[in-house]
Amino acid sequence: MDSKDIKRICVFCGSSSQVDSRLFVEVKRLGGWLAEHGIELVYGAGNVGLMGALADSVLACGGKVTGVIPRFMVDAGWHHERLQQLLITNTMHERKQLMCEMSDAVISFPGGIGTAEELLETLTWKQLGLITKPIVIMNVLGCYDSLLTWLDQMVDGHFMREIHKNMWKVCAATAELDSALQSMPEWDSTVRKIAAI
Ligand code: AMP
Repeated sequence: MDSKDIKRICVFCGSSSQVDSRLFVEVKRLGGWLAEHGIELVYGAGNVGLMGALADSVLACGGKVTGVIPRFMVDAGWHHERLQQLLITNTMHERKQLMCEMSDAVISFPGGIGTAEELLETLTWKQLGLITKPIVIMNVLGCYDSLLTWLDQMVDGHFMREIHKNMWKVCAATAELDSALQSMPEWDSTVRKIAAI
């Protein structure tokens, strides 16, 4: 898929403010890339950590951001207040589904268990052919090395087929995003037939 065909990208990333400062440098690059490409960011509307830094960088570069967040997080004051659009959901599940539905592609930037859960459920939907959109795992600073090893083990152990590795592309930095999207293997809903191993 060419980035010109993408209107909105959903980005999952960590909410922690305590992570390696190089991740903040890279997430700001990602925000700049989205704004330069005229691609709207769809994310979890957080105002702290990598989430907040990503939204701030898109806005600072003149881009557009939609945040999707459950009501209990708004009540706790966790939402970013300067987004062009804030969508409030009843549950975490509705939030994740809406973020994914609204977007033409998904990027998983480094994060914690929240990010990992979001990435893995999105991959599960793709394995079942419920979605076919590109999924890019941004393995910045090797943050996803262990997860990628685990995915390989799932294939080696016949929990997944080799072809399921075509569900995602890995890149190490924003500079590699265009080629990761362009080289993303085609995926369609007929894969449901091979979902069972
Ligand atoms: P993690 O990768 O564990 O930091 O989780 C990121 C996810 O945690 C987000 O998508 C949210 O579901 C949730 N989350 C945790 N803290 C916040 C916050 N301050 N604002 C918004 N979402 C948050």
